[in-house]
Amino acid sequence: MTVRAETTAVVEPTLAELLPLSDSGDWHRAACRGDPHHEAWFPYPSQDFDYARGVCGDCPIRAACGEFAARTGQSGVWGGHEFDRGRLIRP
Ligand code: SF4
Repeated sequence: MTVRAETTAVVEPTLAELLPLSDSGDWHRAACRGDPHHEAWFPYPSQDFDYARGVCGDCPIRAACGEFAARTGQSGVWGGHEFDRGRLIRP
């Protein structure tokens, strides 16, 4: 007899899987794609994030990106806002 275990785990999509679903464009159009300033996307509390916010300002998938960050508990700058484990800390 074979017993098959059922799994009930909820698997959240990755950013790459989610962003193609955006109605504002596909993830390949993400303005930050290939950005060399990695540290700018994870600012210290005392540090501004004007650079990242500026890049996001021109991004066609900005809304979907911020929603993704909030829903999946991301930290750093997403959609032009700073999040800490999915909580908006600096709009
Ligand atoms: S909104 Fe900002 S963080 Fe999100 S994909 Fe666009 S440029 Fe990147």
